[in-house]
Amino acid sequence: MKPDRSTRLIHHPYQPPDGFGAPQPAVHKASTIFFPNIAATRSRDALDRGNYTYGTHGTPTSYLLEQRLCALEGGKHAMLAPSGLAAIACVNLALLNPGDHVLLPDNVYGPNKALALADLQRFGIQPAFYEATDTSDLAAKITPATKLVWLEAAGSGTLEFPDLIEQVKLCRSKGILTALDNTWGAGLAFAPFDLLRTGDGSAEALGVDMTVHALTKYPSGGGHVLMGSIMTRSDALFEKLATFHMHFGLCVGMNDVEAILAGLPSMELRYRKADKNARAIAQWAAQQAQFVQVLHPSLPDAPGHAAWKKHCCTPERPEGAAAGIVSIIVDDRFSQAQVDAFCDSLQWFKIGYSWGGPMSLVVTSSIAATRSTWPAHLQRGKMVRLCTGLEEAADLVADLQQALNKLT
Ligand SMILES: *Cc1c(COP(=O)(O)O)cnc(C)c1O
Repeated sequence: MKPDRSTRLIHHPYQPPDGFGAPQPAVHKASTIFFPNIAATRSRDALDRGNYTYGTHGTPTSYLLEQRLCALEGGKHAMLAPSGLAAIACVNLALLNPGDHVLLPDNVYGPNKALALADLQRFGIQPAFYEATDTSDLAAKITPATKLVWLEAAGSGTLEFPDLIEQVKLCRSKGILTALDNTWGAGLAFAPFDLLRTGDGSAEALGVDMTVHALTKYPSGGGHVLMGSIMTRSDALFEKLATFHMHFGLCVGMNDVEAILAGLPSMELRYRKADKNARAIAQWAAQQAQFVQVLHPSLPDAPGHAAWKKHCCTPERPEGAAAGIVSIIVDDRFSQAQVDAFCDSLQWFKIGYSWGGPMSLVVTSSIAATRSTWPAHLQRGKMVRLCTGLEEAADLVADLQQALNKLT
């Protein structure tokens, strides 16, 4: 029997052409993925990246991004999440049980802290916070119930760079898992799974157990895509994380994956431009009497500068890498309204959250509201966070100067 037109329309003979090559890969979108026979539906493992089972578990497009991210950050297994924050939540919820204790740096990305304080506590998981630049404080806060330590380098907002090598050694010695929010370093500033730079295998590798990365920032580069990744070298951790990731239905859209794939080849170039711009601003800001402190790890008196040098400067690149964020503490003699007016009068810095896109951004932030205690290494004042885009550094500095002239 000749099938009906509607059936023929549905069972189309189209096959993608072999031998077609182009700079950007194809976008494979699917909920349903065909199996060759029923036996294959029973034998395929949803976590096996050598196979396809269902759209939530990935398509060739998302597998490709996972592989490229592994190449970038030095991991073995990667998973994609709808946002950087979803990646953070996945790590917490996949690994922590009621009664467990989790440690976060006090300068951690704010929503990670909020999740810990509100939701993890609700699930019977106890969070506590340590001073990122003080490994002895981390050691003192570890308890027999501590199962996971979050690391962030540099810390969100105040940009202290911790001694990751010391922190990881300490956690390893106690058998505690480490997860690094690697958004700032982005796989470019330092190698989180090879902190001792033992890529040649000359010494024992020392690295974090997991990274999360807000691909929303540098990998996207456009300020238009939200995505996160989770990465590990451990097969056992991958199985745990990927199983939870699957149970929670944490999947991403393939057009967004395509956008991230398109962003990766230019990422290092963009990172270095944003870095250069942030250093130009940091150098200028350090000279201004209205600012009591400039927070950027490349500045010799910035908190964590020595650790930044140790991790991010190499013989090949002595100038190091430092992303595109600089925070400024404005003297307390200026009112919040004056500081707000300074930000409002900027021309090239748009007001908004996130970073890693083409445009420079500005927001204010309250140290008192985000930290458990005001650490001794931070001056009193009102914080402004500048995230640099790809504009010309001199234009950005001139813009800040004209806004500063209005402030005084
Ligand atoms: C932006 C950011 C995140 C979260 O990423 P989203 O995709 O915006 O959820 C996590 N950590 C750091 C350090 C970030 O800057």
